[in-house]
Amino acid sequence: MSEQVVGILGGGQLGRMLAASASLLNQKVIILDTGEHGPAKQIIAPTEPHLAHLDGSFADPVKIRELASKVDVLTVEIEHVDAAALEEVRLATKGKVLAIHPSPSTIQIIQDKFRQKQHLSSHGLPVSEFVEVESSVDSISEAAQKLGLPLMLKSRTLAYDGRGNFVVRNLRQVEEAIAALGGRPLYAEKWVPFSNEIAIMVVRTVDGEVQSYPVVETVHKDNVCHLVLAPLRSRDPSLPSKATSIAENAIKSFTGAGVFGVELFLMDDGKIFINEIAPRPHNSGHYTIEACETSQYENHLRAILSLPLGSTALKVPSAAMLNLIGQSSSMGEITKTKDVALTIPGASVHLYGKSECRKGRKMGHITIVADSDAQLRSRLRTLLQSLPENYC
Ligand code: ATP
Ligand code: MG
Ligand code: MG
Repeated sequence: MSEQVVGILGGGQLGRMLAASASLLNQKVIILDTGEHGPAKQIIAPTEPHLAHLDGSFADPVKIRELASKVDVLTVEIEHVDAAALEEVRLATKGKVLAIHPSPSTIQIIQDKFRQKQHLSSHGLPVSEFVEVESSVDSISEAAQKLGLPLMLKSRTLAYDGRGNFVVRNLRQVEEAIAALGGRPLYAEKWVPFSNEIAIMVVRTVDGEVQSYPVVETVHKDNVCHLVLAPLRSRDPSLPSKATSIAENAIKSFTGAGVFGVELFLMDDGKIFINEIAPRPHNSGHYTIEACETSQYENHLRAILSLPLGSTALKVPSAAMLNLIGQSSSMGEITKTKDVALTIPGASVHLYGKSECRKGRKMGHITIVADSDAQLRSRLRTLLQSLPENYC
């Protein structure tokens, strides 16, 4: 494998699966995140002192500079990093060989959802209507006049798992919404009455070539991804290529290499809107580990290291991925579902090694592969029946 060292900002589950792929390739990796034994750091033990993982925040410019000084390629497993510090590092190391993927400017645009929407819209990509708002009743009421109700009020920054979204159904809720989103910069989106949510992982090479994984259906519960079904089954045979072309055009509009997750809304009339883009491996691509010829994690590494990309094709007819979400501070419910998964043919368990279980926290996932949709449904049914009532 390459002698280059890869630095990863963020050491959660995505970093863990990236590190697992790296370890199979003898690829040296240094992880920056708080704590000594987070999910990603557990996977790769440093073999030499200069490869020691760093304990600190991926939003701390000093730590980012320290990581940059130790590696040849920097990448992220989360977009909420200090993108300005990354850009400074890029400028400071001009002439030296330090690659940053995706590019800091891409991360900067994507991490601010309002700028991301402006970028997509200015490139002619389909997004639902959106407007910038102030955190005031007047400003949000004005947005409601323009976009109608309900409307989706969103935090521009630091959003994940729907924590940063508020559905405003009537104007009496506006004050509650402002309080709930707690002083963060906001924007408003027109409500999209989608029939399904779909997602596509797109991998982009250093030269800007793109290659896509199959279109998948994502099923959300309370704003959190619950299930992924691969591939998308649709009555309209032109839909996958239409969605893929939108996703690829979106990713071509950014700079830098790596895997990107593109979340889309599908309408009853066949229209497609982009919901959001993640500049990194993505929850809706976990299934690629067992179900595709090359996983999103390995292809992310191949892309940022300028190695040949692996095939993104499915190698099984049908697959599903279930997120294991903490139900309380106890791992009891997760362990029960894991035990059931161990009895299901084609099921693979992934637990993330997180030190604490919390309600709503992603603790692991299970992928099921099958020879047909019917077999998948039967295997999945057994798993879903093991979930506690009101699971989310
Ligand atoms: P994550 O990054 O974990 O995917 P997030 O916090 O960035 O989530 P979004 O993806 O913006 O949040 O929204 C979460 C979910 O809320 C979407 O998957 C979708 O179900 C719903 N949603 C978002 N925007 C809209 C909209 N404009 N109209 C209707 N539903 C929406
Ligand atoms: Mg998001
Ligand atoms: Mg999302």
